[in-house]
Order: sequence, then structure tokens, then C-alpha cells
Amino acid sequence: MVHEILPVGMLQCNCSIFGDEASGDALVVDPGDNLAKIEAVLARHGLHVKAIVITHAHIDHIGGAHKLHASTGAPVYMNFNDQGLYDHIDVQAQWLGVPTPQKTAIDVNAREGESVKLGAPERQIEFQVLDTPGHTPGSISVWIPAENKLVAGDTLFLDSIGRTDLPGGDSQQILRSIHDKLLPLDDAVVVIPGHGASTTIGRERRRNPFLQGM
Ligand SMILES: [Zn+2]
Repeated sequence: MVHEILPVGMLQCNCSIFGDEASGDALVVDPGDNLAKIEAVLARHGLHVKAIVITHAHIDHIGGAHKLHASTGAPVYMNFNDQGLYDHIDVQAQWLGVPTPQKTAIDVNAREGESVKLGAPERQIEFQVLDTPGHTPGSISVWIPAENKLVAGDTLFLDSIGRTDLPGGDSQQILRSIHDKLLPLDDAVVVIPGHGASTTIGRERRRNPFLQGM
């Protein structure tokens, strides 16, 4: 499976592009900005986007969703608990001093139990939604068992966790999400955070200062 991680935009959000080589189906997580860069990667691998998944409605993760939806027609998945944040994306844009991006409709409520499958029926790769609220009310992570990878959005980082001081953040809730949904995963699972370097569940279990004594 193709997997490219592109840091996009002013805040260098990690946009993940997953592609099934056999079918050409792709899934894009968090197209925050730099659509030309994202589309160049899709073209280079001959991929067509089947789904756009947003881990949470912060502008650096969702800013390019409208453009990618308009150019591909792919449905946009986001947890409806972040709709309020998305409705006020103009406020987020003002904080950062950037233009307000055009908004897209959210087609599917990305909540636990929901998944996206890529590839031919007999050899499908499944992307499963995990509810991991706390950084925002509708924050999700994407668990890909066949790849042993977790796209964590801004819930878990190398040596850190997501900030909870922005509107809708909840410091107890993010720790509960990590404890209940992420730490049960195997130590070998590769974690792709919303910003910065990749890590593993095992490394964060042992070394992340926010997770000690859990
Ligand atoms: Zn965020």
C-alpha cells in the first residue's frame, strides 16, 4: 500500500495519503492545505480518491477539504460533534491571520463503527474510526489493522498529547480516550500524529510523560 505523509500548511499538519496499488483507490486524511502538493502525489501514483477523512475540525486539518472534495467528488468523513467548530472556521482563520477557506458539506458522520474500505472485495484494506475526543469534542483516530498503523490526529504525539486549552478541549477526556482506545493497541503499532514525527504505541506507553502511571 502507498502511504505518503505530507506536512501541509503554515502549521505543517501531517496529511496522510493511502493508496491501494491494485485498484488505484486512495484515502486522504487531513488535507489541511497545499492541494497542489496532495494532487501531485495522487497523480504520481495514479490514484483516485475514494474518501476524505478529517480527524477534527481545526483549520490546519480541514482547510483544504472543500477543494479536494470539489476536484475528486469523494465523500468527506468527519465526526458530527465537531460541526460546531467547523461552522466557526472563520474565527479560527482570524486567530491565525489566514483567509477563511470555503466550507464543504460533511457527508458521513465519522464515529466508532464507521469504516472505509479500499481495494477489491477479496483483498480489502479497512480504515476504522476510533472515537478519541478531548482535543476537540469530535476528534477521531483512524486505525488500519492490515497496516498496523494508527493516524492519531492531534490526540497523541511523540512525547506529547493534544492541547486541550482551545474551545471544546477537555483534558480529562483526552487522557480517557488515549487510555481506553489507543493504549490497548500493540506496542508495535506505528502512530502517525497530526504534526511532527511518527512514533509507536510502545514508545509512547514507556516514554510519553503525559501517559506515565496510566
Ligand atoms: Zn488540532
